[in-house]
Amino acid sequence: MSATEEFDVIVVGGGPAGSTAATLVARQGHRVALLEKERFPRYQIGESLLPATVHGVCRLLGVTGELEAAGFMVKRGGSFRWGTSPEPWNFLFALSPELSGPTSYAYQVDRMTFDDILLKNAARHGVDVREETPVLEAVRTGGRVTGVRCTGPSGAVGELSAAHVLDASGNTGRLHAAVGGERHHSDFFQNLAVFGYFEGGGRLPAPDSGNILCAAFDEGWLWYIPLSDTLTSVGAVLNRDQAARIQADRERTLMESVDACAIVRDLLAGATRVTEGTYGRIRVRKDYSYANSAFWAPGIALIGDAACFIDPVFSTGVHLATYGGLLAARSVNSVLAGELTEERAFTEFEGRYRREYAVFCEFLSAFYDMQVNEESYFWKARKVTNFGAGDLEAFATLVAGANSGERALVEPEALTERFTASSRDLAGAVERTGAARTESGERMTELFRTPVVGEVMTEMNRIQHRGVVGESSEAPLLPGGLVPAADGLRWAEPA
Ligand code: FAD
Repeated sequence: MSATEEFDVIVVGGGPAGSTAATLVARQGHRVALLEKERFPRYQIGESLLPATVHGVCRLLGVTGELEAAGFMVKRGGSFRWGTSPEPWNFLFALSPELSGPTSYAYQVDRMTFDDILLKNAARHGVDVREETPVLEAVRTGGRVTGVRCTGPSGAVGELSAAHVLDASGNTGRLHAAVGGERHHSDFFQNLAVFGYFEGGGRLPAPDSGNILCAAFDEGWLWYIPLSDTLTSVGAVLNRDQAARIQADRERTLMESVDACAIVRDLLAGATRVTEGTYGRIRVRKDYSYANSAFWAPGIALIGDAACFIDPVFSTGVHLATYGGLLAARSVNSVLAGELTEERAFTEFEGRYRREYAVFCEFLSAFYDMQVNEESYFWKARKVTNFGAGDLEAFATLVAGANSGERALVEPEALTERFTASSRDLAGAVERTGAARTESGERMTELFRTPVVGEVMTEMNRIQHRGVVGESSEAPLLPGGLVPAADGLRWAEPA
């Protein structure tokens, strides 16, 4: 590696955020290097996708055919044993007014395969993909990030320079510090997850057999993700005070959680835990809801888990990662084309990204609040009224700029009121939806009428719509903001 290599853009990390951004910048003819620490395929958690990723961003990336050919499990939505109903209820994509039709599904993916498809696709689009190349630090010139220092596969340290660095190095990356600001960890969502894989688990009755199942129990909740006809990803989300118990015996903690949750216990009755290969380990993740107070600085922007992550209950991680990748690519492309200043393009990037994070934050808080269990410390601590001052402050900081001026985002009390109202709306809609597990139709549309769900779907619907029908005209999402250009790869001033 020579010390003088120059690119237009350096992307750090080859997960969904990095591959998305790199491909969409390379498609505009720019010179892009993507530096990835591991050799792919590599393991990652985050297997349940949303339609906006599959039919929106992945279509823009040109991998629709490859995803179909990979034979991933089709996911029509989520099934939840959650809230007051003793029966599981569904949140089906098909019933969103704008998502109905042939693209109202997503996939449950083996991330080794999915991420490898996206990374190879980036290389096919001309991205200089370098695996086993960890980035050590950002290089600065004056007040600007102008490149990175990294180690190549031979162990030699080299330097690459570029007009823009995109940090997509996930939750373990350290480069985010180069943007400045702080990383706010949520007290409210401070959970631990312990997870493993099972062969031979049961399936929900058709047509819900590909759905993710999320089931609440006294000490937390479990996910049950069918990855194939026989392989299932199972994880328990617990309070972080369970750390010592998990550390003492991961397998026992996972199996005790399964035993405490009737619906998952029954589904796993005839199953055996995978104990060999990549899926044979029981893994743990902790402290995983956070957001950086700044998403960009001159020369560098954060995307995916490097910028923010919010609790996995609604499978939003890969959506936020690919969405962040798309927004950053539009901004970089606009600046490199000389059409916008960095300030204008990245203010749009950050505003939209924060808005998307903030609507999920509100939705997921309402979702947690809905589960009632007076006996349980886990569930009592997750009532919206227990939003700590730190969380409220972090939330207000987080969305400042995206929705500034709104009273509810500035005053903690008003924010709690707003979240409580969202929770009431959501719980009411689920109540009216009742135990309509396999039936769809009228009762399910209740969910989509609630303002908090509408907010969550707005931008996802737009991305999916653009992916499916190609060019589309949109109004600015933010006051005084920009709109996507006709090709979806740059920003334009609204007409
Ligand atoms: P990653 O996928 O983490 O990719 C980052 C890449 O950067 C990695 O390949 C890494 O090797 C590389 N890297 C790191 N440091 C460096 C460096 N210094 N130099 C070069 N490369 C580097 N999301 C969903 O959508 N659905 C789910 O069901 C879901 N379940 C989850 C369950 C749990 C318990 C948790 C914690 C998360 C879950 N997620 C889920 C979230 C999901 O895992 C992430 O949001 C997603 O993987 C983020 O993608 P990314 O591209 O930002 O980062």
